[in-house]
Amino acid sequence: MPVREILLLGNPLLYQRCADVTKEEAPLLRDTVCDLHDTLMAFREKHGVGRAIAAPQIGLMKRVVYMHIDTPKVFINPHLTDLSESMIEIWDDCMSFPEILVRVFRHKSVTVEYRDMEWRVQSLRLEDDLSELLQHECDHLDGILAVSRAIDGRSFAHVSQRALLES
Ligand SMILES: [Zn+2]
Repeated sequence: MPVREILLLGNPLLYQRCADVTKEEAPLLRDTVCDLHDTLMAFREKHGVGRAIAAPQIGLMKRVVYMHIDTPKVFINPHLTDLSESMIEIWDDCMSFPEILVRVFRHKSVTVEYRDMEWRVQSLRLEDDLSELLQHECDHLDGILAVSRAIDGRSFAHVSQRALLES
């Protein structure tokens, strides 16, 4: 499966809401998942970061998120529930604008409910790193980028300045 081009900030597709995956489409996602995997790994090799990718980032307007931290995980039609009132403030990054960091608030913990590749309903309670990651990826499925969630006009930084930023 090929490494796909990652759509970059400004591409109108990144601002569109993605369609739900139907049960009939789920078996056809295998090629997509391979593409997401290869594209994520190629990005990680080049940039040294990248934990997950959303299907619209390669132009596939379906509600699919692929995460690979220690093991691969596919989230089909994910949605977030039980968002904690407690928030965390982070410098977020994105493969669609790899040179920019954006300061955003995220919920400290969330539950993600989704379908797996066998179309089983699954849910996971996520904290901190994984919580903010899934909020970022689910936003992609709704056409929302981290830059749209910037806390204020000073919430942008070039990635080379990371060491100067308070975490
Ligand atoms: Zn992103």
